[in-house]
Amino acid sequence: MTGNKDTLYIGCHLSSVKGFENMGKEALQIGANTFQFFTRNPRGGKAKAIDPQDVANFRRLAEENHFGKLVAHAPYTLNPCSATPKVRAFAYEAMSDDMKRMEYLPGNFYNFHPGSHVGQGTEEGIRMIVELLNRIIAPDQSTIILLETMAGKGSEIGGRFEELRAIMDGVELKDKVGVCLDTCHVSDAGYDIVDDLDGVVAEFERVIGMERLHALHINDSLNPAGARKDRHAKIGEGKIGLEAIVNVLNHPKLKGLPCILETPNELDGYAAEIKLLRAEYRG
Ligand code: FE
Ligand code: FE
Ligand code: ZN
Repeated sequence: MTGNKDTLYIGCHLSSVKGFENMGKEALQIGANTFQFFTRNPRGGKAKAIDPQDVANFRRLAEENHFGKLVAHAPYTLNPCSATPKVRAFAYEAMSDDMKRMEYLPGNFYNFHPGSHVGQGTEEGIRMIVELLNRIIAPDQSTIILLETMAGKGSEIGGRFEELRAIMDGVELKDKVGVCLDTCHVSDAGYDIVDDLDGVVAEFERVIGMERLHALHINDSLNPAGARKDRHAKIGEGKIGLEAIVNVLNHPKLKGLPCILETPNELDGYAAEIKLLRAEYRG
C-alpha cells in the first residue's frame, strides 16, 4: 500500500453511497488503483454507519489488486475557521467522527479544505484551524490528515504554500498532517505549473518540504493561472493542458503519490482519462 515510483497510482472521486466494495469494483472497471470518496454527504449531516463486512471485502479486493493509498475527502461545507461558533463546532464533530471511522481502513489519507476566514483575517483563520487540528488528532491514529492547496478564492486559506506551512507549524503531532496538491487550485492560485513546474516544485520544497506532500488532485482548470476561480476542467480541455498534466505525473519529485481526478466526468469519462494518463506515464 505504499508509493512505488514505477507504478502510477491513479483514480478518481467515486460516490460512496453503495459502500467500499462497490467503489473498489468501480475503480477496477475504470482502470484505477486508488480513489477518493466523501466520508459523508458533502453538504454535511450525519454519516452512514460503516459496515465491517463491506470494509473487509473491500480490503481483500484492494490487496489482491495492489491498490495504492486512498484519499477520503471531508465535506466541503465544513469550515474550521468560520466566524460562527456553531459552524466551527460542526467541523469539529464531523472531523473527529471521521477520524474514528477512518480507522476501519487504517493508514490512508483524509483530505480537507482548510477553510475560509470570512473577514476575520488569515492569521485568525490559521489559529482556528490549528486549534481544531490539535483537538482532533490523536497520537495513535493511523490516518494522515491532508490540507488541500486551495485556489485562494474569496477568503479561502491555503492558496499560498506559506499558509499551509503555518498551519502545520502549529500542529503538535506533526507526522499526522501533510498536504494534497490540487493542480487546478495551485494554478488558479497563481503558481505557474504550465511554464515553470520545476520552479513551483522547488517553491513547495522550500516552503513546505516534499516529505509533507502525500497526494495529488489532477484536474485541468477552466481559467488561466492566477484566476482564483476553482472551476475544474477535463484533462486537456482547460488552460493547464494535457502536456503540463503529464509533466506533473512524471515529475521525479511527485512520482509515486496517489493521483485523484476530480474532473467533470462520469465513470466512462474517467476511464478514458485514466487510460490516456497511464499511456503517458514513464515508470
Ligand atoms: Fe477538495
Ligand atoms: Fe481538489
Ligand atoms: Zn476545486
